[in-house]
Amino acid sequence: MKTRKLSVDLDDTLVSLVPAILPEVNSKLGTNVTEKDVRDYYDNALFHSGLDVSALCRKAWSRPEELKLVDPKLPDMLSSLSNEYCYKIQITTGTVADLPCIRSCLDHNGIVGDSIVKVWGQQAKVKQEFSVHVDDLSHVASMMNDAGKDVILLRRPWNTDIVASRGTIKVVDGWPEAYEILRRR
Ligand SMILES: [Mg+2]
Repeated sequence: MKTRKLSVDLDDTLVSLVPAILPEVNSKLGTNVTEKDVRDYYDNALFHSGLDVSALCRKAWSRPEELKLVDPKLPDMLSSLSNEYCYKIQITTGTVADLPCIRSCLDHNGIVGDSIVKVWGQQAKVKQEFSVHVDDLSHVASMMNDAGKDVILLRRPWNTDIVASRGTIKVVDGWPEAYEILRRR
């Protein structure tokens, strides 16, 4: 029986979206920005470039089978957490993608989850019921901490403002470390 719920963000937590939009950004701006240059997801050169980043994200999501996972072992890790460690897995996302595109991408990449919940605004993630949430955005991690909810923050170039684990926030370098924490809970 699945006794606890793992909530997982989608964009850049399960599915790599920043790398998918960068080629078009670079071609439009004549730049050579890589993922590690994206220091702030909302307030960097990309998002002050005049480009419609939401439109670029929607375009990337319109080819869901071309999107890559953040970690190629995610299908095995999530399947193990579900089957061996009794987690119900809910994908909790504010993505611009619609449900058929999300399902197509997850199916194509072999990700099995129990449910997908689309929320409006990151604050809505905090109001969900779960045992622990995984995300790539530091302000989501901070909101979870303020609400006393357990959260795992995947270290990415754009969330280095949270320098170390604190309160309810566990900072991890990648999914294998997150998996170990989740397995031992
Ligand atoms: Mg995200």
